[in-house]
This record gives sequence, C-alpha cells and structure tokens, in this order.
Amino acid sequence: MSNNKTVAIYEYSGAIHIHTTDSDGTGTHKQIISIARQLGVDFLMFSDHMTLKSLHREGWYGELLVVVGYEINDPDNKNHYLAFGLKETLPDSLYAKDYVQLVRKMGGFGIIAHPDEKRHLPDYPPYPWTEWGTDEFDGIEIWNHISSWLESINKWNRFLFFVKPRSSLTRPTDNILLLWDRLNRTRRVVGVASLDAHAFRYRMGLLKFTIFPYKIDLLSLRTVVLLRSPLSKDFNEAKRQLFCALGGCQAYFCNLRWGAPFNFFFIARTEKKGDFIIGEEVPIEEKPVLLASVPKIAELRLIKDGEMILSSISTSFEYRATSTGIFRLEALIDDKGWIYTNHIRIV
Ligand SMILES: [Zn+2]
Ligand SMILES: [Zn+2]
Repeated sequence: MSNNKTVAIYEYSGAIHIHTTDSDGTGTHKQIISIARQLGVDFLMFSDHMTLKSLHREGWYGELLVVVGYEINDPDNKNHYLAFGLKETLPDSLYAKDYVQLVRKMGGFGIIAHPDEKRHLPDYPPYPWTEWGTDEFDGIEIWNHISSWLESINKWNRFLFFVKPRSSLTRPTDNILLLWDRLNRTRRVVGVASLDAHAFRYRMGLLKFTIFPYKIDLLSLRTVVLLRSPLSKDFNEAKRQLFCALGGCQAYFCNLRWGAPFNFFFIARTEKKGDFIIGEEVPIEEKPVLLASVPKIAELRLIKDGEMILSSISTSFEYRATSTGIFRLEALIDDKGWIYTNHIRIV
C-alpha cells in the first residue's frame, strides 16, 4: 500500500481566541490582521470579552478569513465560552447552562475556553469551566497558550518565560485529553488549540515586557481545519464552511515551535471507498487502514477510545483497524506536544 495521501484535502491554518483593545488585549483588529497576513495565517477568530462591537470587521482580507465572536462569562466570571455566529451579544446576567443552550439555539457555534485552568499566581486567578451539566457545546480548548504559560511559570523560570513565551508550551494536560476522548465517544466535540492572545504589557523591575507579542503568539498554537473543497470567496459561505468543518471535527492542532506540519496527514484508507479524513466516519466492513505521515521524526502515538494502542519513533505508520472506535493521533518531539488530531471514527 502506497503511503501517499490520495484524497484532496484543503487545509487552513488558523489562530483562535484573540483579544483586542475592544476588551483587555493591547492590539487593534487592524494591527493583528496585518501581522497575521504577513505571517500567512489563513483564518483568525477574534473573541473579546462580552462584546461584539467589531462584528462589522468580519470578512476576507486578501487570503485571510476573519471571524468575530465573543467570550462570554457568567456573573461570577467563570465558565468562559467562545461564541461565534451570533448577530448580537446575549444578556450578561446569564449562567453557563443558559448561554450554551442559547448559542446553539440561535445557530451559533460555541467552544469551552480553558476548561481545566489552574494558576499559581495570586494576581491571576484561574477561570476553569465548572458547568459540566450541559452537552450542547460544539468544541473545547484542549490547549490554551496562556493557561499553559500561567500553569508552569515559577520564580526560577519566570525570566525565560517572559522572554521566550513559547518555551512554556509542553503539551495539553492528560486530564483534558481524556475528557475530550470521553466526550467524543458519544458525540462530536471538536478539540482546538487556542492562543487567548492579549499581548499583555508587564513591568518587572526596570524591564518592560510585552508578554506574547501577537507576532510570536501567531507562530505558536494553530488549529488547522480540513475541507474537501476550498473555502469560498464569498465570506458568508466561507464562514459556514469553516464552522461546518469544525463542527465535524475535521481539524488538528499543532505547535509551530517544533516545525510546520508540512505535508502532514492522518487518514483512513479503504479499497472501495477511498480515503477518509479526520472527523469522518468509516464503516469497519471497509477494512480501513489508518495511515499517518509527519515531515520529521517524532514520537507518533495512536490513541483509541482514550488509550494509546501504538507508539513509534518514526515519520509514518500504518495500522489496520480490526474493531470500531474513535482514533486520534499525537506527534511529540522530545516529549513536547507537536501535533494532535481530532478523531477518525470507525463505526
Ligand atoms: Zn477566558
Ligand atoms: Zn480569553
């Protein structure tokens, strides 16, 4: 069996969860869009706290698709939720159960932000997700740059973390990966990586820092969306395609710090029905073979129903599935997370 990918896949590499001067970020939409275009980002998903006042900025900017949503919190400032596809903000007195339901009801798309955040700095309390009694969310942040940073910072590495923020990114927590696998056994919940970009300004003695300048942040965690046909040049149609692919879990995410995922793929190949992409459902009677290829040597892990069933240090693998389940791939370099796919579902 040839290890080449034969299915046409259109890939769009995007940055999710960006704050601007509309709330507590330090860059304007215009500045961030310009940086993103220079860096070749394919889509940006803005989500300022509790405001949609820049909704009119949605659209195509050259090759960059810009979507504007907002980050909702409850009256206790917990349960942060990224909502996209709404025309106006919801009343700000709502609790999570209600806004999760309303976003869905109004045809929007919702992603749970930093679900298991823990922080160790007194000035920056954590904002975890606590409302697990709802199941109407569409996605979940598996890896949030600022949560990772705040979780692992301490007095010894503080200087390094300020100067080289990307060094804080090790990998998503085991807890959140397990939760993601568990949720996906009953329904599709897309896993994404997000930046939670603010480009905060901070003073340490005489030194002034911008923590995670947008330019650096946009070169860290990306979510890559996979489509079987290219994004339309019509903005509304492109936006529909983007959320349709995200809702279908046709996505993986990666830390660009360890290399661009050039020519990366994870597919299920069948003899009669061709290749299936991440997020799709493959009948077991088609005798699917899972194939993966990465552009450089990495530790490849195949996870089935939350358990690792194969691990190899390599640039590729193939695995013939003999039972149904949900399969995803992780690629790590020196124990640091590089690429994480959503699930291929063998049914
Ligand atoms: Zn938040
Ligand atoms: Zn945020």
